Amino acid sequence: MRVLDDLASVRPFTEELYRHLHAHPELSDREHETAARMAAELRATGVDEVHEGVGASTGVVGILRNGEGPTILVRADMDGLPVVEDAIVEYRSTQTAEIDGQTVGVMHACGHDVHMATLQGSVRLLAEHRDAWSGTLVVVFQPAEETIGGARGMTDALRAIVPDIDVALGQHVGPYPASSVRIAPGPVMAACDELIVTIHGRGGHGSQPETTVDPVVLAASIVLRLQTIVSREIPSTAQAVLTVGTIHAGTKSNIIPDTARLGISMRTYDEELRTRMRAAVERIVQAECQAAGAPEPATIERTLWAPVTDNDPETTATLTAALAEEFGDDVHPMVRLSGSEDFSELAAAYGRPYAFWFTGGIDDERYAAAEAAGTLLTDIPSNHSPGFVPVLQPTLDTAVRAMTTAVLAHLGR
Ligand SMILES: [Zn+2]
Ligand SMILES: [Zn+2]
Repeated sequence: MRVLDDLASVRPFTEELYRHLHAHPELSDREHETAARMAAELRATGVDEVHEGVGASTGVVGILRNGEGPTILVRADMDGLPVVEDAIVEYRSTQTAEIDGQTVGVMHACGHDVHMATLQGSVRLLAEHRDAWSGTLVVVFQPAEETIGGARGMTDALRAIVPDIDVALGQHVGPYPASSVRIAPGPVMAACDELIVTIHGRGGHGSQPETTVDPVVLAASIVLRLQTIVSREIPSTAQAVLTVGTIHAGTKSNIIPDTARLGISMRTYDEELRTRMRAAVERIVQAECQAAGAPEPATIERTLWAPVTDNDPETTATLTAALAEEFGDDVHPMVRLSGSEDFSELAAAYGRPYAFWFTGGIDDERYAAAEAAGTLLTDIPSNHSPGFVPVLQPTLDTAVRAMTTAVLAHLGR
């Protein structure tokens, strides 16, 4: 019997867990109830080891041992988002939380509830069919993907528990037909870097600019000059984005402030270009400060970063072949996304290859109708939107099938 012939046996478990998780989302680094539930389900499944509080936050690691063979790391992320849910399902989230003294709605608007429930489903299926595979399965439930840093916060503690792995696998649900899978080798998701630049000028009266170094004018000049990095320094064949998303200075129109702050977000798809762009930002900011006669150089802090998700060609080829056998025509090439993920940090901590792919969450007919009408962008809610609630099925089945197939492609005998 094929492991997936028994898919129906875990379906009620996966669906019930999904409904519970969807109704009870928690924000990044606050996934306490969620993590406890993940650990409890791993124990109920009978995995050999369960570790809680792994790393800096709420990480959970389960180890399922089954004789000789490779060690495969599989990962699901656990955090929800500060979004008020706008969906008509009976398991809708009405949860709220406090951020900086403000009450916000909380929702699994990125589908991490799908990732958790279906990974638990796959693990249960694999645990019940140990005769079909051999090796070691390392199951990671990671906090704080949305704020980037959850994976990084787990790596040291994870390596103390699991000294080495052979390959890491991860999947994400997206706005695609729910029976389909998308996968591609190479860079599939962007690296991101957030830089906060503090410009130091010299404040004074708005009527006497000659006594000051005006950081507002300096900031304006920097914002425009930074736009030449992508338009003038990056080859037209490469892809990159640089956005100045925040600019803060001053309190009153007749006061020239001392400082100005810029928030910069960068997306790139290769490390060499990424390094070059960061150097260009540094060069332009400091040169503009010097040109303005600023009393000291600007301070540039990198406050948030994620690596490029760059699928290993060999691992991806193995997976694509296995997925094609399971899903037939429902496997499509993944189009490169400008969003970022920190999943690859887990593989990078071991210097091991990885693959990351997408499964669908939109009713197949609804998707086909929107595609035919040319209204995919307006009619199909995407991740992080208040209406991104995947259809229950076949979304969950597809994700369980995809992950189980991917694991068996490496552990099957
Ligand atoms: Zn997200
Ligand atoms: Zn996500």
